[in-house]
Amino acid sequence: MKQLTNLIIEFEEKIKMLMDELQFLKMRAYVLEDENEKLRLEIMDVYQYYLKEAGDPKSLREQAPGQGLENLGRLYNEGFHICNLHFGQMRSDGDCLFCMGFLDKNSRTGK
Ligand SMILES: [Zn+2]
Repeated sequence: MKQLTNLIIEFEEKIKMLMDELQFLKMRAYVLEDENEKLRLEIMDVYQYYLKEAGDPKSLREQAPGQGLENLGRLYNEGFHICNLHFGQMRSDGDCLFCMGFLDKNSRTGK
């Protein structure tokens, strides 16, 4: 009987540990979701900035030489879509032809 009691106590401790872990994961998920939202807004800003400046290659050169395109290229390399079809979403299937077309087209007209 004593052995059974010990097993129950052991089990109870394991459950407590799992609950702690669950609490930690919940906090972690919250932080990540928050961060994700901030990053999404940040890339939207970059995108809006680039769209605004891209219509006028001269002012883009004067105000921020290639910065918009550079940021978008960086986002693409970090694994995000920068094409208007999936903008801001993670690229899960390797290279995206739309993104690459967008970068290619704009790197040529920007110079
Ligand atoms: Zn894409």
